[in-house]
Amino acid sequence: MPGFLADLTGSFATSAAQNPTVAVMEAAYVHAGLDIRYINCEVPPERLGDAVRGAIGMGWLGFNCSIPHKIAILDYLDELAPSAEIIGAVNCVINDDGRLTGENTDGQGFVNALRTILDPAGKRFVILGAGGAARAIAVESALAGAAAVEIVNRTPSRGQALACLVSDRTAANAGFTEWTGAYAVPDGTDVLVNATSIGFHPSTQSPDVDFATVHPGIVVADVVANPPQTEFLQRALERGAQPLQGLGMLVNQALTNARLWTGRDLDAGVMRRALEDNL
Ligand code: NDP
Repeated sequence: MPGFLADLTGSFATSAAQNPTVAVMEAAYVHAGLDIRYINCEVPPERLGDAVRGAIGMGWLGFNCSIPHKIAILDYLDELAPSAEIIGAVNCVINDDGRLTGENTDGQGFVNALRTILDPAGKRFVILGAGGAARAIAVESALAGAAAVEIVNRTPSRGQALACLVSDRTAANAGFTEWTGAYAVPDGTDVLVNATSIGFHPSTQSPDVDFATVHPGIVVADVVANPPQTEFLQRALERGAQPLQGLGMLVNQALTNARLWTGRDLDAGVMRRALEDNL
């Protein structure tokens, strides 16, 4: 018997800027015949606790968090999923009758998108960047069985910290390279990931990589979802690499969030079309 109000899910963000996830989730809920809404809430940092108590009080199924709430939310959770605990950030919270569990589905979205073209187990990864997205991707790829993860970053302290985290908390071999000029991709690399914000619309830049060292057949992935086909992916494609768009990571992350909140597998095609229409 449906309640008088739809079940609620949503995002706690610090800006009311257009969030394409709203369109993605709502399209998928409607397509699945679920009486659930997804709303974007502007929550200033000092009001996060009030927002969390509000969500519990209203019986929300769960919610996403964006920066800076991804770390601050840890203070309000009862439990952390293993990868979220290692990453130290949460972008998805599940409410089980007032008991809150935090997950990090950014990295899971990446790995699930990657699995559509390559099994990460035993593979050698190079990750450009050491921010939040890189951290989630590095940890989740290592937990999925990556043999090696090389972090390449402009700021050494951040890059070294991430490499140490991966080697201390997972079975993968992790290393760090300071990014000082056109990066030469080592022979034997299976997956090269741009986990920086370089190339995000309206920029048309590419991360500084020596594309002559991008060998045919390797997977080249971008976290940047807008535009879907970045300059980085285009140049890698011209070298014969297999491109993996940031759009796939975003859709897979939304699919995982929905599964955690509703227990249902929603339609990835519906989500992808809604995302493309709303970028
Ligand atoms: P952060 O600010 O945490 O990290 C940014 C990273 O990019 C840092 O490592 C930074 O290096 C590096 N960087 C930025 N500009 C440059 C530059 N000019 N030259 C070299 N390195 C640079 O950002 P996030 O990790 O949170 O986000 C990164 C991107 O990932 C964003 O575009 C975001 O939209 C995207 N994203 C996509 C998702 C998806 O599902 N597709 C999910 C989550 C994020 P340094 O440490 O030296 O400053």
